[in-house]
Amino acid sequence: MTERVLVVEDEPKLAALLCDYLRAAGLDSEWLADGRQALERLQGGAMPAALILDLMLPGLDGLELCRAVRAFSDVPILICSARVEELDRLLGLELGADDYVCKPFSPRELVARVKALLRRAQGRLAPVSWVPAAGGFAIDEAGQRILWQAQGLALTPVEFRLLRQLLQHPRRVFERAQLLDLIHEDFRDVSDRVVDSHIKNIRRKLAALDPPQECIASVYGVGYRMDLP
Ligand code: CA
Repeated sequence: MTERVLVVEDEPKLAALLCDYLRAAGLDSEWLADGRQALERLQGGAMPAALILDLMLPGLDGLELCRAVRAFSDVPILICSARVEELDRLLGLELGADDYVCKPFSPRELVARVKALLRRAQGRLAPVSWVPAAGGFAIDEAGQRILWQAQGLALTPVEFRLLRQLLQHPRRVFERAQLLDLIHEDFRDVSDRVVDSHIKNIRRKLAALDPPQECIASVYGVGYRMDLP
C-alpha cells in the first residue's frame, strides 16, 4: 500500500511542489492549508504515515497542531519553518516533532527526511525482540521502543536514541556534545539546549511510570548520566 503523507502548508505553490516531489518519491500526498482543519481531519479519519507541518498556519499554528496531535498519535512529524530562531527549533522538538527543516529548503532534502522518518516508523512493526538493559529496562532495537517492567514509554525517535545510549552505558557520564551527535546525523547548528529539552521530556516520561523512575542524573557543567546499578 502506498504511504500517504499529509502536508499542512498555507502557501499553495509550495504545497503543490512538495506534493509533486512526494509523488515522484512513490508516496501519496494530501494537502490542507488550515491547521484546525488538519487537526479535525486527523482526529476523525485514518492517520497518514507522516505529517509535514508548516509553522505559520491559519486556524491553528504548526506548534499547536504538533502538540495536539502528540496527545493521541506518535505519527512521524516534520516541521518546516521560515522562522529559524533557536526558540522555534527547540519548541518544535520539545512538542514532539521528529525533525525540522528551515525554509527555504530543497524539496529533495525534505522528501529524503520524510522517507527517513517513515523507515524508522516501519521499524516499529518489525518482529519484536526485547533486549534487557540496566535497571529493569528493555530495548526493542528494531521497533525503537523502550519498556520498563512491562510499561511502555512513548518516545520520539530522538528520545529513543538518547535514552538507549544512556541505558546501554549506565553510570557513564555523557557530555551534551556527545548526546547532540545522536540527535542529528548531520552537522546543523543546534545548541546544547536541544539536548536539555529532550532529556527533560524523557525524564517526564520516566516520572510517569509507576513507580516513577528518576534515574537520569545531571552532571553539573558536563552532561548526563544514567544512575542505575
Ligand atoms: Ca505558512
